[in-house]
Amino acid sequence: MAIHEECGVFGIIGGRRDDIARDVYHGLYALQHRGQESCGIVVNDDGVFSAHKDLGLVGEVFDETQLNALPGGCMAIGHVRYGTTGGNTRSNIQPMVVSHQKGNLALAHNGNLANSLDLRDSLELSGAIFHSTSDTETICYMITRERLKTDSIESAVLSAVKYLEGAYSLVMMSSTKLLAVRDPHGFRPLCFGKREDGSFVVASESCALTAVGAEFIRDVKPGEMLVFQSETPSADPVSYMGEPASKKSPCIFEYIYFARPDSVIDCIAVHDTRVRAGQILAREYPVEADVVVGVPDSGLDAAIGYSRESGIPYEIGLVKNKYVGRSFIAPSQDQRTDTVRIKLSPVKSVLEGKRVVLIDDSIVRGTTSKRIINILREAGAKEIHLRISSPPFRHPCFYGVDIDSEDKLIANHHTPEEIASLTGADSIGFLPLESLGEMSGCADYCSACFDGDYPTKIPTDPRKDRFEKKLSEAR
Ligand code: SF4
Repeated sequence: MAIHEECGVFGIIGGRRDDIARDVYHGLYALQHRGQESCGIVVNDDGVFSAHKDLGLVGEVFDETQLNALPGGCMAIGHVRYGTTGGNTRSNIQPMVVSHQKGNLALAHNGNLANSLDLRDSLELSGAIFHSTSDTETICYMITRERLKTDSIESAVLSAVKYLEGAYSLVMMSSTKLLAVRDPHGFRPLCFGKREDGSFVVASESCALTAVGAEFIRDVKPGEMLVFQSETPSADPVSYMGEPASKKSPCIFEYIYFARPDSVIDCIAVHDTRVRAGQILAREYPVEADVVVGVPDSGLDAAIGYSRESGIPYEIGLVKNKYVGRSFIAPSQDQRTDTVRIKLSPVKSVLEGKRVVLIDDSIVRGTTSKRIINILREAGAKEIHLRISSPPFRHPCFYGVDIDSEDKLIANHHTPEEIASLTGADSIGFLPLESLGEMSGCADYCSACFDGDYPTKIPTDPRKDRFEKKLSEAR
């Protein structure tokens, strides 16, 4: 798997002031799967912002000392981020904090702007100076610029987002307000809930609400801005609806891979979608086999679905070492090889002499699948029938997911039969593109990395190359 996560955002307002940084810490822990390279927390102590952020996992960046050093406050936000080794600079770590004539702004962003280069070019030509390579700083700049011209943060954000194209789920704080904003397409998830003590919590995924004891209220709607006030922290948020997009297009890959299976996104349970994907695969690509095995973690739910539909027993045939990061964190090919072997270990008694249906969520370059199939062969599997719970990747993503460039995507150069041969599988089957609606239970979604049908304008060549380069640097 060579796909990189995007980011996770979290915010809280109200509740026990002294525990607020610790609450964000627990929320970020629940969102760790969305970004493992850096993280940060900003606490708003009645208008005074204090931040701690650094490179590393949540548990590495924050210990008792760091958490105790952050003050209590009326609200706080946090962020987990993915970045490559080369571009994972400290200046890109979020939340970003800006001080301006009218106060402070702290902002955490999940997603990527498709027009970030155009925006940045025009801002730089008008005198703006940026300190990072992240499009998040561009959003900060746009909002701050509008804030200086308007009389409220709400007006500033509503004006600024008119310039933004692409994916942005934002959680931000002014001196007195917590805001949650989701782009009109709704590419990235964002939801909020409430705790018994009256505090409100905003998070990328509902699993983070559960982690801090908040009851899920609803998803932030595509194009919606929610405003929570520090003077009345228990009052329901005020909702503002911006310009609607022609079509909502939440990322279908959140359901297939990114989100945690215990999350619910846009009223759809992620686990259920993955089980359905497995059931569809069993109908579309039946095979005589002895056992169904999922590649942990995101292949497990689909393996259950395949087993249920086919009647072939589901077994744990691969065990994941929980203490190894996802293989894509490895910066070099050699290191990735090691990581797959250390991360996944075969259960020989399940596999030896068996005809195995192996379920994984996707194939990017094919190298990871080949290694996993090797591991199964070495454990004595007689046949391996690979079933993939997504359609073949054919295109890059401009909305916050680091999918390899087109020339590196195996499905761009090879037929399914060739991919089976290259990976060492006896047969292969991909989830049909036209089944994504049945899988997710929604009519509108983004599936551009599979079909090339982008919901927004995308950078055109040669800018596209530059965009991808900048994106890579920013990560
Ligand atoms: S292009 Fe793919 S990964 Fe990117 S938002 Fe669309 S479905 Fe998600």
